[in-house]
Amino acid sequence: MDIGFIGLGNMGSAIVRRLVDAGHHVVVFDTRGAAIDSVVAAGADRAASAREVADRAPTVMASLPTPQVSTQVAEAVAGGNHIQRFIDLSTAGSQAAQRNHALLAEHGIAMLDSPVSGGVHGAQAGTLAVMVSGPRAEFDASAAIFDAIGRAIFVSEKPGAAQMMKLVNNLMAAASLAATAEVMVMGVKAGLDAQVMIDVLNAGSGATHASREKFPRAVLPRTFDYGFATGLMVKDVRLYLDEAKALGLPTQLAESVAQLWEATLAAEGPNSDFTSIVKPIEAAAGVVVGTGPR
Ligand code: NAD
Repeated sequence: MDIGFIGLGNMGSAIVRRLVDAGHHVVVFDTRGAAIDSVVAAGADRAASAREVADRAPTVMASLPTPQVSTQVAEAVAGGNHIQRFIDLSTAGSQAAQRNHALLAEHGIAMLDSPVSGGVHGAQAGTLAVMVSGPRAEFDASAAIFDAIGRAIFVSEKPGAAQMMKLVNNLMAAASLAATAEVMVMGVKAGLDAQVMIDVLNAGSGATHASREKFPRAVLPRTFDYGFATGLMVKDVRLYLDEAKALGLPTQLAESVAQLWEATLAAEGPNSDFTSIVKPIEAAAGVVVGTGPR
């Protein structure tokens, strides 16, 4: 199948490799030339712009950093000669997704907003959870693509519904990583061994994805290279708060979680790995949670 792909970052580059390995012909574009070079070396075909991707492929996918960039790219592909459907894997929030659905519909292009969960490791292994909203027939027609990258779950025909689901998922991920960071610092300050703490949490009711995957892979060894930027996590938490406030809902927990993420953004910068959330908490406590160098 001919597939276009725009946005070759941590997620996009791994997803394109899965698509190429599954036998698809993938035409790619990114604003960073080096990102294109590395997936072309893996078998993808280079395009010079997002518009060119949409001139060459009936199905165009994207994995982009922000709602603004998602909309820019939707505008660029809308004029394409060959594009029939746009599958946006970015976490862009439901308002941007609804805007993009409407914009593309004016050009006769179907959109599936399809945010993903599972991180870079899930992207590499082809085990992403893919949440999809948009026309059911388009979802069914895209089964071979979704099968190559993970497990797709149809959320609803309503534009933006999958984005709502993704924000719910990511608030849980943001909260559990923040909570795991705070309790790990507390335990180490009290004299507990970090590795023993993780072993106990994972054997008991305190286990989270953060204690099972993120701490053992990127915090205890002090590598901070899990593959998701703090700036993107903050974007997701802010989008969740915007949506919850628009619904008039209480946000007590989300506000506390957001404070910890905003503090991490200020201290560690937007490009730091999101596992760096432990660092400002460690600094305040005067301890380090790890089994390797800081
Ligand atoms: P990233 O910053 O590593 O990659 C984004 C890519 O988009 C970069 O290569 C950048 O050069 C490119 N880009 C920016 N503007 C562009 C434009 N106008 N045209 C073409 N390319 C452009 O981000 P990522 O970690 O790969 O995440 C991508 C999306 O997936 C985000 O919405 C993120 O929230 C979501 N996501 C990420 C993860 C993760 O673990 N990294 C997990 C689930 C969802």
